[in-house]
Amino acid sequence: MIIEMEKGASQKLIDGVVRKVRELGFDVQPNIGEKETVIAVLGSNTGEVDTQIFETLPGVKKVIRIMSPYKLASRDFSNKKTIVKINGVEIGGSNVVIMAGPCAVESEEQILACAKEVKKLGGQILRGGAFKPRTSPFAFQGLKLEGLKFLAKARKETGLIVVSEVVSVNDVPLVSEFVDILQIGARNMQNYSLLTAVAESKKPVLLKRGFAATIEEWLMAADYLLRGNGFNVILCERGVRTFDNSTRFTLDVGAIPVVKRLSHLPIIVDPSHAAGNFRYVPVLARAATAAGADGLIIEIHPDPQNALSDGAQSLTFSDFARLIGEIRIIAEAIGRKI
Ligand code: PEP
Ligand code: MN
Repeated sequence: MIIEMEKGASQKLIDGVVRKVRELGFDVQPNIGEKETVIAVLGSNTGEVDTQIFETLPGVKKVIRIMSPYKLASRDFSNKKTIVKINGVEIGGSNVVIMAGPCAVESEEQILACAKEVKKLGGQILRGGAFKPRTSPFAFQGLKLEGLKFLAKARKETGLIVVSEVVSVNDVPLVSEFVDILQIGARNMQNYSLLTAVAESKKPVLLKRGFAATIEEWLMAADYLLRGNGFNVILCERGVRTFDNSTRFTLDVGAIPVVKRLSHLPIIVDPSHAAGNFRYVPVLARAATAAGADGLIIEIHPDPQNALSDGAQSLTFSDFARLIGEIRIIAEAIGRKI
């Protein structure tokens, strides 16, 4: 349930409503805008409460029931597009934000080479996994703390923002110390204890779509992160599992306009994990840009053939440079920039 306050309602009136919501035993999350304030009433049984209880309070304009199962991620809670701002970079603004780097951090030289390439081509964010959620327990699991230190070094040398995945609740404080954005991988989209721990860290989050998750489930997962974490959530479409295995996953380009209609959160696209093959990555990246993605996250590697993970889908630096040139043209064609 959403309580919409009158334009310019005073803090005292807002506090009065918040108090009433709490008295009734509900969770409350106000969204204080420049002109308008809305207050979300959160709980499993808000449907049983008569809206009149709030409608009669001073300063209340109207009370709306949110019909969708996701609340804080919905446009009912905030109809203004969220822009996640990190060190001067805006995700969800007019620019298409470029994030790139290796699947996994493998060495200091490798991550520095990638970082310099991303910087040179006008990218803003460096990706690289230090903790890797691998399907096989025998596959390379990441350099962990050492990898985080290499990422921090690359950030220091280039000024890029760093995003890296956190795979367990225990590692949230450690990863938070070294990176700017915590990534929640597709395999963990519904790991609710991890989502809760990440929300508590107050760090910006990149939430990948689970590969068997509906958009509704994805937005409900985002609600876990939005509880008490401002609006620092970026959604990432990375392909879903379908009957066809010609590509690793099937990129759901349609998710971009759907998410934009249903939610205020920015949505970026990972064409690399969807494609699973470097040949298809540029086409998917171009399609995602044309469809309105707020950014791209792309795997690159100085020597893809010898990569310790996801080499088959990693772009060489020269392919990446060519792609950035193409993305720039597409972005401009739709009134955006990179
Ligand atoms: C990754 O970004 O390297 C990764 C493992 O992605 P996903 O969770 O989308 O599979
Ligand atoms: Mn990968």
